[in-house]
Amino acid sequence: MTGTCDLCGRTTDDLYEVEINGHRFVVCSECKDLGKVIKKLGQSPSKPKIKIERPKERISEEDLWEDEELEENEQLIKKLRTYMSKNGLSVDELARKIQVKDSILRRVLNNDLIAPDDVVQKIKKFLKKENYL
Ligand SMILES: [Zn+2]
Repeated sequence: MTGTCDLCGRTTDDLYEVEINGHRFVVCSECKDLGKVIKKLGQSPSKPKIKIERPKERISEEDLWEDEELEENEQLIKKLRTYMSKNGLSVDELARKIQVKDSILRRVLNNDLIAPDDVVQKIKKFLKKENYL
């Protein structure tokens, strides 16, 4: 809103209601420092912004495991693939090292098959042994 400053007479749309010696004046931005600013005019009273800090819930490892078991398996397969390429192993060679059927391993690596539990365990054991986990 546009108005004139009670103190200097300037016309401005940057007005403040201030209190000086117990009296209220509408003043411009330059005169507002002479008193105590009660509010800026032409603005809806700003709602106090209260930021609620919620403590982050810590997810226990057990919950994580349940929810992300599949993802964990994917990670495992990914690591296995990395291991394979780094060591220049074929699926057959890898299958022999891990001691699973190469046909199963091939399908697992191609995402044709969700690794059965026993295969997952074998892969885990193997990767741990190779310091890959
Ligand atoms: Zn003024």
